Amino acid sequence: MPIRLLPDQLIDQIAAGEVIERPASVLKELLENALDAGATRVEVTLERGGIGRCAVRDDGAGIPADEMPLALSRHATSKITSLDDLERVATMGFRGEALPSIASVSRTILTSCTGEGPAHALEASVEGSEVAPAAHPKGTTVDVRDLFYNTPARRRFLRTERTEYGHAEALFRRVALSRFDVAFSLTHNGKRVLDLPPAHDRERQEARVAALCGEAFLEHALYVEREGESLTLRGWIAQPTFSRSQADMQYCYVNGRMVRDKLLNHAVRHGYRDVLFHGRHPAYVLFLTMDPARVDVNAHPAKFEVRFRDSGAVHGFVGRTIEHVLAQTHPGGEGVAAPAALAEGVSSHPDASPGLAADGAPPQSAMHRGVGTQQRMSLADTRTRLEAWSSLYGAPKATRGGAPTMAVAEAPANAAAPGEMPLGQALAQVHGVYLLAENEHGLVVVDMHAAHERIVYERMKQAWEGGRVTAQPLLMPVRLAVSNREADAAEAVAEELARLGLGLTRQGPQTLLIREVPALLASADAEQLVRDVLADLNEHGASNRIQQAVDELLATMACHGSVRANRQLTRDEMNQLLRDMERTERADQCNHGRPTWSQLSMSDLDRLFLRGR
Ligand code: ADP
Ligand code: MG
Repeated sequence: MPIRLLPDQLIDQIAAGEVIERPASVLKELLENALDAGATRVEVTLERGGIGRCAVRDDGAGIPADEMPLALSRHATSKITSLDDLERVATMGFRGEALPSIASVSRTILTSCTGEGPAHALEASVEGSEVAPAAHPKGTTVDVRDLFYNTPARRRFLRTERTEYGHAEALFRRVALSRFDVAFSLTHNGKRVLDLPPAHDRERQEARVAALCGEAFLEHALYVEREGESLTLRGWIAQPTFSRSQADMQYCYVNGRMVRDKLLNHAVRHGYRDVLFHGRHPAYVLFLTMDPARVDVNAHPAKFEVRFRDSGAVHGFVGRTIEHVLAQTHPGGEGVAAPAALAEGVSSHPDASPGLAADGAPPQSAMHRGVGTQQRMSLADTRTRLEAWSSLYGAPKATRGGAPTMAVAEAPANAAAPGEMPLGQALAQVHGVYLLAENEHGLVVVDMHAAHERIVYERMKQAWEGGRVTAQPLLMPVRLAVSNREADAAEAVAEELARLGLGLTRQGPQTLLIREVPALLASADAEQLVRDVLADLNEHGASNRIQQAVDELLATMACHGSVRANRQLTRDEMNQLLRDMERTERADQCNHGRPTWSQLSMSDLDRLFLRGR
């Protein structure tokens, strides 16, 4: 073939390949254009997950009739004119690529009015069509229909309408969080899904955060506001007890631009490092503001990553700020959260609605190190814990040789010969995290949570494989507020979840009712358990693939249902844990691959103290 210049439409379609992947990417570009145009109200209309239609209407500046054809030309933009502009760009768009790319792979109509003179429309995807008079108030509507109708190869990469809708809704949430001053609405298949009025004060902003991230998030949120020399951090971070099994509730904005930036995520994680349980992910909504000249936004095709001129300083500032805010929840902290309130699982958030945490769940604060408060236990507490412990373990199996279950093991531990007990006898525990035992060789140190998690996981797997997962009905079903999307996902796999022992029914568009939990996890926090499972379903695409995800779900449940750090065990419970470890396959590692125990032999100990040298 001779060398030829590519036709314009093909060039646009190739460019579209880079930025327009699915309906959500169309929505992203249209929303950014609306915001760049100074809109105060943005209405999104989707049909069939955005594949059939993705329309965005705004009340922004509008496009003059004579510029409309230009708006659809490649590299035509009203936002920058020089490299200098690019270096301090404050608008979302600046490449002038989005509209032509979108129009090249869909049926797009652009209608706009600047407020001076009548409105005009242009059928963007029909070649040679002209600007014609139309009816439209001041602002712009970009109406995109039949995405990829002319590029079958790309259309094949689209997932189900439900999945595409999920991505689009998630994108909408991200954008709607970025601009509290703008009103947003979202309609799907003729149904109004979200309606968000402008939020100029903190109270209204928190209402929006609750609408977009869920009441539960806000209820466990700590407010962050800190001004540094050249940058400001503001937003909401969840207490470590509200951690997630997936990194799916992390909203980060730099100068109003949503980013998924490794440096920032790492900085936040760093701030949480001492208080977050392993394998868990923090939830947050954070806004970083700084001089636009100190950050390069042109670092990624979809502009999701940014490059900071001084990344070390940004990392330090963000990490320290998070750490500082979290530290205030310690007993004796600056009073953001009263320790007692934390221990009760009650929100430290002043505006939280009280009813939501009242699910009778055990205190969650013991789940992470540091934030929980150590309380002296009464006799009644001890008994409750013993019962919780034994129900976690379930009824003893015949193969266990009649070992005493915790509830009845009131006498000192069974004094079997040392050879039968490789992990030896429990001596003590350290800060509710490590268990110390003495065996034939010397000292054994056990990570209690990791060990218990492995045991529960193996039991659940066995029960699952043997079709013996028993569900335990909850005395009081727990009502759970979730997103439409989560409710849909749960409903779609309700049967499979039931086979895992999790009985859920849908009660409303955004309400689930937890009726049953796996008997092995009866003492776990049902709400947190279901939230984790939903997050996992979301992450793994769920629906028919739940079978493949069973191991992961079991692991999630096991992790969740296992004894948490800071829980004080009795000597009997400690010995029971050791015996259970000995009986459990693969007990040497927790589900996250960390060791569950370690041996310090007599000679190791001797070396520590320079004995015999
Ligand atoms: P970019 O946003 O990178 O400039 P686009 O292809 O997204 O490129 O848009 C091209 C131009 O069309 C923009 O620079 C802007 O002038 C105009 N435009 C697009 N959408 C809107 C809108 N909703 N309101 C006003 N002007 C718009
Ligand atoms: Mg744009």
